[in-house]
Amino acid sequence: VNAEIIAVGSELLTPRRIDTNSLYLTQKLNERGIEVAGKSVVGDDRERLANEIRRARKSSGLIVMTGGLGPTLDDVSREAAADALGLELDFHQEIVDAIEARFRRRGRAMSENNRRQGYILRGAEILPNANGTAPGQWLRDDTGILVLLPGPPRELKPMFEGQCLPRLAQIASPYQYYTLSLRVTGLPESELDQRIAPIYSEEKRVATTILASPGEIQIHLRARAATLEEARKIAEFLGEKVEAELGSNVFTREDESMEQVIARLYRGRGMTLAAAESCTGGLLAERITSVPGSSEYFLGGFVTYTEAAKNAWLGVRESTLRQHGAVSKQAAEEMARAVRAKANASVGVSTTGVAGPGGGTEQTPVGTVFIGVADEKSVEVAEIHVGGERDLVRQWAVQKAFDLIRRKAL
Ligand code: ATP
Ligand code: MG
Repeated sequence: VNAEIIAVGSELLTPRRIDTNSLYLTQKLNERGIEVAGKSVVGDDRERLANEIRRARKSSGLIVMTGGLGPTLDDVSREAAADALGLELDFHQEIVDAIEARFRRRGRAMSENNRRQGYILRGAEILPNANGTAPGQWLRDDTGILVLLPGPPRELKPMFEGQCLPRLAQIASPYQYYTLSLRVTGLPESELDQRIAPIYSEEKRVATTILASPGEIQIHLRARAATLEEARKIAEFLGEKVEAELGSNVFTREDESMEQVIARLYRGRGMTLAAAESCTGGLLAERITSVPGSSEYFLGGFVTYTEAAKNAWLGVRESTLRQHGAVSKQAAEEMARAVRAKANASVGVSTTGVAGPGGGTEQTPVGTVFIGVADEKSVEVAEIHVGGERDLVRQWAVQKAFDLIRRKAL
């Protein structure tokens, strides 16, 4: 079956609130092998909502609605569903009794409008709400399944997990799914796709999605098969082919960030690291130290933001700064060497660049960053040019530095 999600609530159509319930629901449904074919956000409008339900029912077998089950007049999910399906709403006194008891336990009186929450679509199963007042509703008919869930995530999640997933298990697809994620760096998305498309498009049992973020691309390979074990084999077989094509650009096949990979590698090899940062202003050290236990391999760092600091603290030569500037291959080289020596680390890393928006010149435009990596034998410098805002330039610089740091320990 295909699913659709309808998030109900006028506040979700303002810039103040976003619909996160559908993300949660999509994840849970996907894990059970149910694809989400569409989703929508509809305001608290009975007629619009009824139309949306009618439309969704025509194309999808499972409709999950969230929100609009509250006690107030603007909560119209029950009525809209009744309109769309041509059903009566039946009043259930036992629901209202339970709500009243809930209020009494808290020393409060139930207000009259909570009675609205006692109305259930004729033929629907009641999904008790342990964390709030509005019960959910589960309706199965010849057309498909319609589920009404409360909007507050802390009510919706336990209800979905505890009461909907077990019901869905009976109708879910005959397939089991396994997802393998490869995380890649150092390649543009277009080139990556060009290289791996011939590989993944061969394998019809795997759905491939590619997700790019600054300095990193994730490849998700979602395999389906009769058993989980078989799905895992299919995904891993394809994953190996993709990895063979992309080589060391793949930095992990686990759910690990670059700094976690560095942690694993440096610990494993007993290597240490020190950093001299200019344009990244400590961002690199921040991410490295966000990993618990990083003191085992990260010795420390300098944020040398001015030329004077580069000279005084790291000994970057005045002649280098004068001749080539602080944003130069030569400065990056000296910074990396100096910090490595001062800290007595296996690897020294440096960043120096123009993050912008000002400060660019014809020779070194905004977005230029030099990244130096020194070990005991040599020092290399990478030059990158990032199109984009200050924040993006800094993120890319760190990601590139991480890639170089990582490669030192391969
Ligand atoms: P209530 O009884 O609290 O009124 P309800 O089922 O009527 O529950 P809504 O009134 O639609 O739900 O939403 C209540 C609150 O739940 C919202 O203010 C919002 O904080 C949260 N919420 C609703 N829908 C979503 C959603 N799709 N994603 C994330 N949060 C949501
Ligand atoms: Mg409400």
